[in-house]
Amino acid sequence: MATRKATKTSSATNKSSASAKSKSSTTRATARTPASAKPKGAIKPGNAKKAAKPGSTRGEEPSPISARHPFELAVPRDAIAFAASKIRDVPDYPKAGIVFKDVTPLLANPKAFHIVLDVLAERFIGEQIDTVVGIDARGFIFGGALAARLNAAFVPARKPGKLPAEVDQVTYKTEYSIDSLEMHRDAIVQESRVIIVDDVLATGGTAKAAADLVKRQGGYLVAHAFVIELSFLGGREKLLPVKVESVIRY
Ligand code: AMP
Repeated sequence: MATRKATKTSSATNKSSASAKSKSSTTRATARTPASAKPKGAIKPGNAKKAAKPGSTRGEEPSPISARHPFELAVPRDAIAFAASKIRDVPDYPKAGIVFKDVTPLLANPKAFHIVLDVLAERFIGEQIDTVVGIDARGFIFGGALAARLNAAFVPARKPGKLPAEVDQVTYKTEYSIDSLEMHRDAIVQESRVIIVDDVLATGGTAKAAADLVKRQGGYLVAHAFVIELSFLGGREKLLPVKVESVIRY
């Protein structure tokens, strides 16, 4: 739906992912977590081997993927752990205190790239997705490939000034900047079923901005999908009640 150009700012809490990461890596839950409380198939890197046995009660938090019947798994746990091993941490980029999750080694490894696409595609089988919105810029890489797998259209949500025709715009706050997203005004078909894809969910401001653009144009937002979720930053809560899928969680 074409609407007038408007600007919206959403607030977000800036936190150091470096300190939060060390906190999350030293915390071990002993209680079994209901599968419904966590994203299906998400895996915490480093826990793959220890929690590999479904139903294990040896003190490790069982991954949600292990709670599912092994024959239901389209992608084995070890495969996801392999993909996670290809994500490179770059400390203090783009500014001090941020640990940047660099997906270029994952993209450079055809097997790892294939695995994350398989995991994401499996989540949307039967969901009749019409359109995948990919967020500038790494969301284009995963979103474009996922759209092709889902036989869906691909729509880019871009940084300001990059799209040639008339746009809708939303301004938002990220983990390390204030930014805007734009989408062509005629990008989304009314009531079409849409998912939004990006590489990383941090504070959720970027994905929320993309969601606002989709809703403003009359699309039905089925879910957000991420390769990586920095769960200690609470982005998932910002996106509720829309479903959030992620492959690798920290
Ligand atoms: P946010 O809006 O805070 O959820 O930030 C998400 C956006 O910023 C995504 O487009 C990511 O690509 C990027 N981003 C935020 N934090 C990181 C990080 N630690 N590593 C890599 N990309 C990040």
